[in-house]
Amino acid sequence: MQEKAAQIVEKVVEETVEKVSGIVAEKAEMVAQAAKEVGKEAKTIAKEAAEVAKPAPKATKVITPEMAKIPAGPLEKKWTNYKDHQKLVNPANKRKLDVIVVGTGLAGASAAASLAEMGFNVLNFCIQDSPRRAHSIAAQGGINAAKNYQNDGDSVYRLFYDTIKGGDYRAREANVYRLAEVSNNIIDQCVAQGVPFAREYGGLLDNRSFGGAQVSRTFYAKGQTGQQLLLGAYSALSRQIGKGKVKMYSRYEMLDIVMIKDENGEQRARGIIARNLVTGRIERFFAHAVVIGSGGYGNTFFLSTNAMASNGSAAMQMYRHGAYFANPCYAQIHPTCIPKHGDFQSKLTLMSESLRNDGRIWVPKKLEDAKRLQAGEIKGRDIPEEDRDYYLERRYPAFGNLVPRDVASRAAKERCDAGYGVNNTGLAVFLDFSEAIQRLGKDVVAQKYGNLFQMYEKIVDENPYENPMMIFPAIHYTMGGIWVDYELQTSVKGLFCIGEANFSDHGANRLGASALMQGLADGYFVLPYTIQNYLSDQIGVPRMSTDLPEFAEAEKAVEQKIEKLMSIQGKRSVDSIHKELGLIMWDFVGMGRTAAGLKEAIQKIDALKKEFWTNVYIPGKADSLNNELEKALRLADFIEIGRLMAVDALHREESCGGHFREEYQTPDGEALRQDDKFSYVGCWKYTGEDSEPELIKEPLDYEFTERKTRNYKA
Ligand SMILES: Cc1cc2nc3c(=O)[nH]c(=O)nc-3n(C[C@H](O)[C@H](O)[C@H](O)COP(=O)(O)OP(=O)(O)OC[C@H]3O[C@@H](n4cnc5c(N)ncnc54)[C@H](O)[C@@H]3O)c2cc1C
Repeated sequence: MQEKAAQIVEKVVEETVEKVSGIVAEKAEMVAQAAKEVGKEAKTIAKEAAEVAKPAPKATKVITPEMAKIPAGPLEKKWTNYKDHQKLVNPANKRKLDVIVVGTGLAGASAAASLAEMGFNVLNFCIQDSPRRAHSIAAQGGINAAKNYQNDGDSVYRLFYDTIKGGDYRAREANVYRLAEVSNNIIDQCVAQGVPFAREYGGLLDNRSFGGAQVSRTFYAKGQTGQQLLLGAYSALSRQIGKGKVKMYSRYEMLDIVMIKDENGEQRARGIIARNLVTGRIERFFAHAVVIGSGGYGNTFFLSTNAMASNGSAAMQMYRHGAYFANPCYAQIHPTCIPKHGDFQSKLTLMSESLRNDGRIWVPKKLEDAKRLQAGEIKGRDIPEEDRDYYLERRYPAFGNLVPRDVASRAAKERCDAGYGVNNTGLAVFLDFSEAIQRLGKDVVAQKYGNLFQMYEKIVDENPYENPMMIFPAIHYTMGGIWVDYELQTSVKGLFCIGEANFSDHGANRLGASALMQGLADGYFVLPYTIQNYLSDQIGVPRMSTDLPEFAEAEKAVEQKIEKLMSIQGKRSVDSIHKELGLIMWDFVGMGRTAAGLKEAIQKIDALKKEFWTNVYIPGKADSLNNELEKALRLADFIEIGRLMAVDALHREESCGGHFREEYQTPDGEALRQDDKFSYVGCWKYTGEDSEPELIKEPLDYEFTERKTRNYKA
């Protein structure tokens, strides 16, 4: 009854808002018209009137399962059915087709190698001086797969279920099931490539546990899993470079995508414009399809655990050409990072989640102990056992220190906000190995985590074997990204998006060790099938000349943007503006978000955008190596992404996963979802430089799982 009443009220409110905004729009137009007639600064008045009339973001379109190309049938048969019926390209035709792959991280490198192995001609681009230096190399802890080697009850379904639940029921079921299904192939593929996964004494592959799971399904190579996996993908890529099937463009940055209309007048991605970062030359490249694996946009926050070159520009280029940006507000804050220690810092360092297998997280029980720690009078090891609050074990007995990242991060913030932080800023908690060292011995702990301990000691100058590590949450990963259908194709024809750059599999919160799994699933096992469904219709399309007007226009627009930036010659460095953006993001779009804070963030970002475009200073020239210019181009896009994140966070009036709206929480501080209103993917469509984006919804129906409140307590 109450629900029905609420629905009626909601409908009436919606209709009234619609009517009112319609009337306001009408009036505004009349005012503008009148102003024009009397000839009084008509332009300004018209603009202001249009501003007033601008309605709040409102979803006008809905993406159906058919539009998302989700195959029909039982969950466990969808992917097999798809593969059985998709269109293929025969070997002779593959040789006629070119594919651009932007990115050489785990997603890009595995895709480029696989597509070339299949016979397509691949052009592969990366910013770094070697494909091996993509951000993926930094991944530490491991990669998930449902092998059930530990015989602890794991299965494809359980990995699927944990991922759906971990993502707070905001991911698409069909994609997540496929991810879990191909996870086992990834391990086989990588072992065949020679990736040195950790092994048990008897020679079998070892596993450890990661957050949000009660089984051990994480495969690892010490604390360097990303590096070893990337070397595997790189060796496959190198083989294809050697065979001439991949043409590698290192130190090249894509600055735009080239769209060309087909015979039906539909825009298709047909190439890219890229800047040679060494010479500054702008170049044009054609392909029948463009695949983007450009990574996440966590560096919007300036300080993050991401590599310094990680950026969101490729995503923004896709977005501006009509690809929807899905769930931009879903960003992951990782609970175990080395705390920030100064204003001149430009990078944060992750302490892998794997450390939570054996490390225990705590703060003092007594406020006076916390104060003495903050003043540097005592060390963590001086506090006796009975005075330690293992708050995760206390609050979440079933999962303890292995609760998912969003839960662990908020719990750390809650303790620090209450005054129990343990470093000089009061913004840190302890991660303690003393019990593990007693139980396993120092040698075993060193074998498992040695390189991470060494890294900690180098940065903090304290021995973590003797005194507990200090950790604090930091921005780490972005679950949001470019919307893709089941085939990993964006809402733009011929434009595909893979890896962290897309939104696909993690809902509102990614579980640890699932990003490497997704990147390699996309690149080795999904895209090589699905892209054929698109390319099979392109075999009759001849290679196009890059002299076509579309290429020339795209190149000109890129040159004009660079000229504009170089001509500003203001007073502020790129980094100083980026740092300011980062502070706005952390304060208002970070771990705790409120409607008032998000509105303030949008205003501040708008002001910062003006400041950037009028007062940034870029030394040097555009036609040579110029790091500051590279950073400025990326910052221009980070500013737009930051705003989009705030707009999305403001509209999503619920808490789910990494998105915590303080207005929506349970009495004990847990995230409170609003399934009746927000069980959808929020897709934002670009509508122009200075106009608000349009919201398009992809409803999330849970056919195969029951939506529950996430519970890690029992
Ligand atoms: C410190 C750290 C540790 C992590 N540990 C784990 C872990 O243990 N397990 C796990 O599952 N996940 C982990 N993650 C997450 C995981 O590393 C990433 O999500 C994943 O590596 C992303 O891979 P990717 O291929 O999508 O993108 P990336 O590896 O970020 O690669 C992006 C590529 O795109 C290129 N590029 C970007 N823009 C352009 C452009 N405009 N033009 C040309 N090239 C461009 C770059 O040069 C690069 O080659 C970790 C993340 C961090 C930060």
